[in-house]
Amino acid sequence: MSTDKETRKKSASELPPAVLGELRKIVGAENVLTDPVDLLVYSCDAITYHQQSPAAVVFPADTSQTAAAVRLLLENDIPFLPRGSGTGLSGGALPLPGSVVLQTSHMNRILSADPENRMAEVQPGVINSFLTKALEPMKLHFAPDPSSQVAAVLGGNIAENAGGPHCLKYGVTGNHVLGLEVVLGDGTVAGLGSPWGDAAGLDLVGLFVGSEGTLGICTQATLKLTPLPQAVQTLLIGFPRLEEAGRTVSQIIAGGIIPAALEMIDHNGIEAVEQSVYAAGYPRDVAAVLLVEIDGFQAGLEEQAQRIRAIAEANHPSVIRMARNEEERARLWAGRKRSYGAQGQLAPDCLVQDVTVPRSLLPEMLEEVYRIAEEYDLHISNCFHAGDGNLHPHLLFDRRDKALTNRVLEAAGQIVKACLARGGTISGEHGIGVDKLPYMRLVFSEEDLEVMRRLRSVFNPRNLCNPGKLIPEPEKCESRQFGADAA
Ligand SMILES: Cc1cc2nc3c(=O)[nH]c(=O)nc-3n(C[C@H](O)[C@H](O)[C@H](O)COP(=O)(O)OP(=O)(O)OC[C@H]3O[C@@H](n4cnc5c(N)ncnc54)[C@H](O)[C@@H]3O)c2cc1C
Repeated sequence: MSTDKETRKKSASELPPAVLGELRKIVGAENVLTDPVDLLVYSCDAITYHQQSPAAVVFPADTSQTAAAVRLLLENDIPFLPRGSGTGLSGGALPLPGSVVLQTSHMNRILSADPENRMAEVQPGVINSFLTKALEPMKLHFAPDPSSQVAAVLGGNIAENAGGPHCLKYGVTGNHVLGLEVVLGDGTVAGLGSPWGDAAGLDLVGLFVGSEGTLGICTQATLKLTPLPQAVQTLLIGFPRLEEAGRTVSQIIAGGIIPAALEMIDHNGIEAVEQSVYAAGYPRDVAAVLLVEIDGFQAGLEEQAQRIRAIAEANHPSVIRMARNEEERARLWAGRKRSYGAQGQLAPDCLVQDVTVPRSLLPEMLEEVYRIAEEYDLHISNCFHAGDGNLHPHLLFDRRDKALTNRVLEAAGQIVKACLARGGTISGEHGIGVDKLPYMRLVFSEEDLEVMRRLRSVFNPRNLCNPGKLIPEPEKCESRQFGADAA
C-alpha cells in the first residue's frame, strides 16, 4: 500500500479503456473519476494509516445503474466496493489495488416518510442526521445515532450495523431496518425483508446488516421510525476516581434504569475536547465524566433522575450538573460527539479501538489501557459508550513515524487481547474491515470462518465485492488481504 505518485498513477491507468468507456455510458462521463488527485479522496476511510487509491470512482444514480456497473465489473474480473461517507473506523471502504469504488452519495433521497406506519423509504446516500432532521415536524426520528451522524450515511450505517450513544435504550441499526433492496455481489437485484412485520422465510435483512459491503450493495432501505420522546434530561457527573465512575455505570443499569444514553469520557478525552472549538464546559479536574441521558414521558422522569443522582452521590462525585435547557444539552453532546475530531489538534493520525468488556470490568479494563499506554509510550484517550461496555481507546500518532506507528499497532493488539481475556469481544460497533481482520482468528475457529465464507459465496460467489474485508481467507490465500499482523 502506498500513496506515492507512482502508485497513484498506476491505479488510475489500471482499468482497461473499454471498461472505463462502458462505465461512462452507464452512469454518465461526469460521474466517473479517474484523476489520481480525485482518487486520493477515496483512498482511505477514517482509519487513515491504511491507504490505497482505487482504479476509478463511479457514482451510480439508482439501483439499475448500480446493477449494470456491477455486472460489467464482474464480466471483466474487476473487484469493486460500495462506499458511503468514508467515516468507517475499520478500513471497510479501503479499496484493494485495482478496485472500482461505487460511491453512493448521488443516491441521497428520502423517498417517502409515513408517520402513520412509522417508516421511511430511503436511498443509501442519505446522511443519518438529515433523516432525523427531516422527520422532526412529524415528531419522529431515526433512533440509531452514531457520533458520526452528521456525515455518515444510512447505507454505511446498515453495512456496519452502526451503534451510537442512544442505542443503549433504542437498539443498534439492525433493530431499525425493515426491508432492503440490494444489488448482490453477483449482480442480482433482490428485495430482502418486509416493511410489514416479520418477513416469511430466512432473515436475510439480519444477514445483510453488518456484512460490511461483502454481500452486495444496498440501494434502498425501509427503516423503522421512532417517536421523539416527550421529555429529556441530561446529567453530567464528574468523578475524581475512575473506579467510582465505572461503578456508577454498573449500578445504574443493575438498578433497573435503562438510560437513553450512558457515555464516559476520561481525563485525556476531556482535555482534548476542552482545548478545542467543541469545548463543552466539562470539569477538567476529574478522572472521568459520565453523560447520562434519560427520556420518556415527563411523569416519572424526575424520579429516575433522582435515583441516578442517589447512585452517583454514593460513589463520591466531585460534580453533578443537569443541563438546564436544550442549548446546554446540545453543548454537552457536541463535546462527546466531536471528541474524535478534537483529537485532530493533538496528532495527525488516530487509531480508534472498538472493543467490549462486561460493564462491571470497565474500570479494570481502563486501568489496563493506561498501563499499555505507558508501556508503549503513547498518548491514549477514551470516549465511549460505557452503558454498553463498549470502549473506544483513541491512540494518537503520526503515521510518518514508522516506529511510533508500529508501537500503536502493537498496543492496539494488546488492548484487544486484554478485552478478550476479560470475556469481551473484538468489535462493539465499528466492524472488522481490514483493521480487525488479524484478530478474527482469536475468536473464530477455521470451521467458523469457513461457514462465513460459504454463506458469502451464495451472495458474492467470486468474492469480487469488497474482497479482503471482514472474513480472513484461508491461510494459504492470505496474500489478497490487507491488515497489520499485530495479533
Ligand atoms: C467521529 C466518528 C464517530 C463515530 N461514531 C460512531 C458511533 O458512535 N457508532 C458507530 O457504530 N460507528 C461510529 N463511527 C464509525 C462510522 O461512522 C460508522 O461505521 C458508519 O456507519 C460508517 O458510515 P459511512 O457512510 O461513513 O460508511 P463507509 O465508511 O463509507 O463504509 C463503511 C462500510 O460500509 C460499506 N458500505 C457503504 N455503503 C454501503 C452500501 N450502500 N451497501 C453495502 N455496503 C456499504 C463499505 O463498503 C464499508 O465496508 C464513527 C466514526 C467517526 C469518524
